[in-house]
Amino acid sequence: MLKIENLHASVEDKNILKGLNLEVKAGEVHAIMGPNGAGKSTLGNVLAGRESYDVTDGTALLDGVDLLDLSPEDRAREGLFLAFQYPVEIPGVSNINFLKTALNDIREYKGLPTLEAKEFLQLVKDKQQLVEFSAKLTNRSLNEGFSGGEKKRNEIFQLAMLNPKLSILDETDSGLDIDALRIVANGVNQLRSENNAFVVITHYQRLLDYIVPDFVHVLYNGRIVKTGPKELALELEEKGYDWLKELDTQTA
Ligand code: ADP
Ligand code: MG
Ligand code: MG
Repeated sequence: MLKIENLHASVEDKNILKGLNLEVKAGEVHAIMGPNGAGKSTLGNVLAGRESYDVTDGTALLDGVDLLDLSPEDRAREGLFLAFQYPVEIPGVSNINFLKTALNDIREYKGLPTLEAKEFLQLVKDKQQLVEFSAKLTNRSLNEGFSGGEKKRNEIFQLAMLNPKLSILDETDSGLDIDALRIVANGVNQLRSENNAFVVITHYQRLLDYIVPDFVHVLYNGRIVKTGPKELALELEEKGYDWLKELDTQTA
């Protein structure tokens, strides 16, 4: 589904990603861990096509389409979802109108007809139930005045509604409390299927007690230097990241 090869990217002429490789198949959940400043969020930002990130080499194929050639909007239409690609707060735009526009935009891109109001509302109802999202939040302005936990819930609700192929969740800087971790984890667990995949970027080993990943990767100094089963997360928790320095020079 996702195949990243030799990805190099820089910010303000500083090389951050230095030949990153990652392959994610349909039906899989991958966790990315690593020390602060390793480039985890940069990876998400580069895939999303955020301004100020320069890709200097490499490819990132989503089902054969190089995301790096597309506008951020077209990346989303191709089925990429980044939690943080949606604006934090848009006063005056209700959550539900935002989702209707986004969903119909994706449908149009795929050559599908616009959803009738009735079908759309049924979908809203079904997905609300699936991810235990309150109808009250659906009708509020997008994220306006949402608490941290409500924002997380909303992110998962958006994910459920838009049904992307590949979701990248970067939880690193959000200081999630245990409730928010559970919300994210329950959502991912409800939504994971043979037809989609998740990349969960996290600092928190404990998130992976709730979302059991198929693979754990360590991103260190701009590269994936180690990949292992879910137990690798526990090993990292115990040993920290310093012991990986050696791997970094070995792979340099
Ligand atoms: P992580 O998410 O692994 O903690 P980041 O990807 O956020 O790491 O950051 C990697 C490096 O890139 C850091 O040195 C950071 O300061 C730098 N960096 C990331 N984004 C920017 C930016 N927009 N402007 C300047 N430097 C940036
Ligand atoms: Mg960081
Ligand atoms: Mg980060």
